[in-house]
Amino acid sequence: MNARCNFCGNKNFSSKRVEYLYKHDEKFLLVNNVPCEECDFCGERYYDASILKQIETLFFDIHVHGRKAKRETNLPIEDFVQD
Ligand SMILES: [Zn+2]
Repeated sequence: MNARCNFCGNKNFSSKRVEYLYKHDEKFLLVNNVPCEECDFCGERYYDASILKQIETLFFDIHVHGRKAKRETNLPIEDFVQD
């Protein structure tokens, strides 16, 4: 774990479980309940390399090897347009 946040230099982090959205070639995988350390000041999230690797493996299992995901949903996508 980083002793200090790379973005704001804060030293206090909270262990959390969060949603992680992995995107690659316009394909997505949303993983719930991913452990991370969140900076108490700026909210930047830090993940273990092993956890990111696991998410990447899941992504390729599903999108390349045809493994069935636990749940699927349609994902509406928009470009933000300023009013
Ligand atoms: Zn921070």
